[in-house]
Amino acid sequence: MQKIEQLCRRFLWNGNNECSKKALITWDKICLPKSAGGLNIVDIYTWNKAAILKHLWNLCKKKDRLWVQWYLEEAGVTTDEFLKGEKYAIKTVYNKMRDKHPKVQWRKLICNNQGCPKWLFILYLTLHDRLYTKMRLKKWNTGYDTTCALCDSEEEDIQHLLFKCPNTSQVWQKILDWQGIQRQTMGWKEEVEWAGKNASGNSA
Ligand SMILES: [Zn+2]
Repeated sequence: MQKIEQLCRRFLWNGNNECSKKALITWDKICLPKSAGGLNIVDIYTWNKAAILKHLWNLCKKKDRLWVQWYLEEAGVTTDEFLKGEKYAIKTVYNKMRDKHPKVQWRKLICNNQGCPKWLFILYLTLHDRLYTKMRLKKWNTGYDTTCALCDSEEEDIQHLLFKCPNTSQVWQKILDWQGIQRQTMGWKEEVEWAGKNASGNSA
């Protein structure tokens, strides 16, 4: 399982099986539901427990078996709850076994968004403040030139690159006008709050 998880992690961050790039977001977080700020990637350790429980479920109809009850307790599932259904769905049990996590305010921007996966991934990294801007790259290379390549005047951080740079600000303003939204372009934080409140679709 460790090997499988390692392959998944490397594929996400590198697109191959080589170990080179640093993970920008921890794997635990990546496995959270999208509404809680994750990407809903399967946590294979929890999934494996749920799959093992499926075997036990068949035996568990004989709930007088003490060892079965003990295992269920260890997995955090009550016997009554476990035996209630006529069918056992690994996914249902897996979801029950995962800890509950608070929903993030910007979940609508990621959940049910029909955008291209690459755009969504960039948005996801930006929402977690992990986008590779020049200011971020400077953390690993102090001599790095952080001047914005678009305007050649200010430092390139998320705020500047996406909304404050005169070039991108113009683009956003045109998009707002095109959509008939009567307001000026705001900063990154304010735009995320605005989009979170106004995005359509389920909040998940
Ligand atoms: Zn700029």
